[in-house]
Amino acid sequence: MTELLTVHELKTHFTARGKTVRALDGVSFALRDKEVLGVVGESGSGKSTLARTIIGLLDKTAGAVAWRGGALPRRYRRKDFQRYAGAMQMIFQDPLGSLNPRMTAREIVAEGARLLQHYPRDQLYAEVDKYLVLVGLSTHAAERYPHEFSGGQRQRLGIARALIMQPDLLICDEPVSALDVSVQAQIVNLLAELQRDMGLSMLFIAHDLSMVRYLSDRIIVMYLGTTVEEGPTEQVFSKPLHPYTEMLLAASPEPDPVFERQRPKLLLHGEIPSPLNIPRGCRFATRCPKAMPRCERQEPALLGDDGGRRVRCLLYE
Ligand code: SF4
Repeated sequence: MTELLTVHELKTHFTARGKTVRALDGVSFALRDKEVLGVVGESGSGKSTLARTIIGLLDKTAGAVAWRGGALPRRYRRKDFQRYAGAMQMIFQDPLGSLNPRMTAREIVAEGARLLQHYPRDQLYAEVDKYLVLVGLSTHAAERYPHEFSGGQRQRLGIARALIMQPDLLICDEPVSALDVSVQAQIVNLLAELQRDMGLSMLFIAHDLSMVRYLSDRIIVMYLGTTVEEGPTEQVFSKPLHPYTEMLLAASPEPDPVFERQRPKLLLHGEIPSPLNIPRGCRFATRCPKAMPRCERQEPALLGDDGGRRVRCLLYE
């Protein structure tokens, strides 16, 4: 597999009330062709900022993002959105908020492709129908408005709107977290099928670890704007290295009730610190049960092995 997207020491900072918010503060990874990379971490870890920066909705403060080896601009202009619309597309967390309430389903799905003249004019609506069916919606639904759909159907519309651009990469930013539990599995199964059948690469951001495990080939674990662990999904789940990953996994319920009763309980105490005030040394030291005196002074580096596992913790330095 060749590398599609490379992210190097990417930072996205904002200014709020005269202070710097380090929402994304040095993330590096490579995403290969046809690969699904899961991104996990609590709210406030920088996952959505990472997605929005990669796709150009936020300016990069520092670091670099490359698409098939070519550097992406630090600040996107209109022509950059047009240029990369066929490369990567995003599915948003809130399906209702991301759909124009005054447009019909047909107009919503067609809009990007129409503006960028992605298809010949006389072919566009046939393509819209094709993608509506592909995501499990009837073509009869094409004249309906977003409020006339259920939450799951609205997310299917969002997926059709992204896929009609024939992207290589789908960035899914918590695509099921606003949906009812009963619908979440349907959307995740749809994404898995589409990824397999269309050979898509995917950046799948979620806080439900079981869904990330089901979909992803590899995962990165983020904490307070940085990557703390990376590796092949099954290796990370079966043998987490970073204390934060251990605690995240321990906090995630297992479907087997016998295993769930017997496994040791590790509680993730406290709240993630503010990106306005990032602790010195290891960022996780304020909550880490394995913290040592030097953890508050020394910032660990992200170190790895040849098998693609990397961890940012002084226990491994
Ligand atoms: Fe815990 Fe120290 Fe490792 Fe940070 S560097 S995760 S505080 S043991």
